[in-house]
Amino acid sequence: HRLPNFSAGPATIPTSVLARAQDELLDWEGRGLSVMEMSHRSKDYIAVTKKAETQLRALMDIPDNYKVLFLQGGASLQFSAIPLNLLNGGRADYLTTGAWSGKAIKEAERYANLGLGEVNLVATGKDNNFTDVPPKSEWNLSENAAYFHYCTNETIHGLQIFEPPQVDVPIIADMSSSILSQPVDVSKFGMIYAGAQKNIGPAGLVIVIIREDLLGQASAWCPLLLNYEHQVEKESMSNTPATYSWYLAGLVFDWLEEQGGVAVIGKINQQKAALLYETIDNSAFYDNPVAHNYRSIMNVPFTLADNSLDKVFLEESEKAGLLNLKGHRDVGGMRASIYNAVPLEWVQQLVSFMQEFEKKYG
Ligand code: PLP
Repeated sequence: HRLPNFSAGPATIPTSVLARAQDELLDWEGRGLSVMEMSHRSKDYIAVTKKAETQLRALMDIPDNYKVLFLQGGASLQFSAIPLNLLNGGRADYLTTGAWSGKAIKEAERYANLGLGEVNLVATGKDNNFTDVPPKSEWNLSENAAYFHYCTNETIHGLQIFEPPQVDVPIIADMSSSILSQPVDVSKFGMIYAGAQKNIGPAGLVIVIIREDLLGQASAWCPLLLNYEHQVEKESMSNTPATYSWYLAGLVFDWLEEQGGVAVIGKINQQKAALLYETIDNSAFYDNPVAHNYRSIMNVPFTLADNSLDKVFLEESEKAGLLNLKGHRDVGGMRASIYNAVPLEWVQQLVSFMQEFEKKYG
């Protein structure tokens, strides 16, 4: 009994992946123990991690001069790790396009205030409630910044930047809610990071993809566990990693390969998003305020013209077996997160429900 789940994260995981994990849970490959119970230093477990890394490299076409790390602390701890590794007395540029990039700059400012360097707000979409990105002509870019940070997909506001901005410094991107959703050119980035609990697997794991020349610059007070160079040396095992989440990420990568890879899933994601936005745009009952060229293909927030009906919408959708459609409290209304593991059929079911609901109450 599994229902359409539109959670923003932790998000739905393909049923076949969970069934396989269940199948392997008690006795992994005839070894008589679970992956969860293995030493992270064992040959078997190392093979599990190497497989996952090889798969991610192939799925994202990651160039050889990038290291891939499987760490803990979520994407949020990377908000600290980034300035601690890369600011180092310099100046960093941050673009704010929503709640998450806003949190990233706030965390960097804490280190700037301690004298670690300077943090510069390039531009913010705050004035239009993060429904649009200020045009690049209005950006206040620094000369020779240590890096430029932005969030490719704002999970709460449903705003996605599809092409990396053209800047002359290393780009650091929070891809938590868009990684693996469509092809990206990794070589355009200095560093990419993503919490796992949307398109990769269970929470407890964050993936960092970092260009080699950015290693080795950490400040003296960077905690060892957050030091990228150290974690590269230790192959993400400075301490005990999130072993089970890492293993499960590998199973999700198997599934993604079976689907045909990122380009194929990207087309389906576009189809899913188009169906939902069309339904919203073709009705005066539903609304999505985000500028069309920045509308997220992963998180679709929408409001009802009469917001006194929100509660009824959520009650009835849940009764119809459509889970987790409540919007984030900062934005209100509803939000449908339609990550890789959400099939087109679930979106079709949601759209039918929305149309019926409008007929009934509109
Ligand atoms: N960045 C984005 C875009 C997110 O959507 C989230 C979480 O939902 C985070 C960062 C924070 O991730 P975590 O909870 O793994 O720290």
